[in-house]
Amino acid sequence: MDIATTAQHIRDGNRRALARAITLVESTKPADRTTASDLLAALGTDRQALRIGLSGTPGVGKSTFIESFGKMLTGIGKRVAVLAVDPSSTRSGGSILGDKTRMDLLSRDPNAFIRPSPSQSQLGGVARRTREAIALCEAAGFDVVLIETVGVGQSETAVAEMSDLFLLLLAPAGGDELQGVKRGIMETCDMILVNKADGDLKPQAIRTCADYAGALRLMRKRPHDPEGFPKAVAVSALQEDGIAAAWDEMCSLTDWRRDTGIWDTRRTTQARFWFHEEVRAGLLNRLTSDAAIKDQLAQLEEDVATGKSRPSAAADALISQLFAAGGLTSGD
Ligand code: GDP
Repeated sequence: MDIATTAQHIRDGNRRALARAITLVESTKPADRTTASDLLAALGTDRQALRIGLSGTPGVGKSTFIESFGKMLTGIGKRVAVLAVDPSSTRSGGSILGDKTRMDLLSRDPNAFIRPSPSQSQLGGVARRTREAIALCEAAGFDVVLIETVGVGQSETAVAEMSDLFLLLLAPAGGDELQGVKRGIMETCDMILVNKADGDLKPQAIRTCADYAGALRLMRKRPHDPEGFPKAVAVSALQEDGIAAAWDEMCSLTDWRRDTGIWDTRRTTQARFWFHEEVRAGLLNRLTSDAAIKDQLAQLEEDVATGKSRPSAAADALISQLFAAGGLTSGD
């Protein structure tokens, strides 16, 4: 691959080049990792998109929402990229056929780019390749990058950590179900969208929305929110109702964050966070890929399991040896 040419094609908005570059960042082969890294460096970071994370359980209407939200955005002249984070095996409706019919109209829109999730790998890999795919989409000049997650395990938190706005899509529910929404997620989200506010479900959706709004008001005010946020709004993805109003809310929140400098601060904090995550993941990867260290790790684990060593002492012993072997000093 010629890095400079590929970078130029991506920046010119060539979709095939973008798709190929995403495949490259998804690869775990060391040679591909190096090329991916060079490509990302060549692309630079001068272009920024609005990164919107979207989470919700299977069946809540994420694809339907992305389709109508995406169409509304391209309708007002925005270019939209959609990335899915979770391995497709975790989707309930995740049959290949199901995925093919998802976002049918949007996928044919020349101003939209949809990338389904690859179907393997662990979170560490998922988080990195998603961040790199976001960077590629930004370099390709998209205005909005939507990152969809089904919120299984840690992927929801990871997506929140790479988004400028984090949306939670929920279904109309009875009062008791309110407790079921994880508090941590309520605390990370910027907006709750109660979907399916149409037909017979509409009154229930409006009640649910009011319940969530009440719950959000009870939460401690966060420094990165203007008055009235996080907010709960009712939408119908199917009938495309409330979608433009939800976008207006997103814009007013984004404008406020840009004006106050909070937008930049959040991106800086996120970059720091991911740097530390990469260091942690890289170290762990080294640990488990070196045969001698792996043996030693197994031995120490056994010592801990049988009570011969305490967990902290065994970990200290291993770490001291690693630093000695690598010629690093422990700093004291
Ligand atoms: P996902 O699994 O979260 O991506 O959910 P889908 O978008 O596939 O939607 C699941 C089901 O809910 C489908 O049968 C949709 O037609 C339906 N659905 C999605 N949005 C709405 C909505 O706004 N109103 C109603 N009534 N049904 C909806």
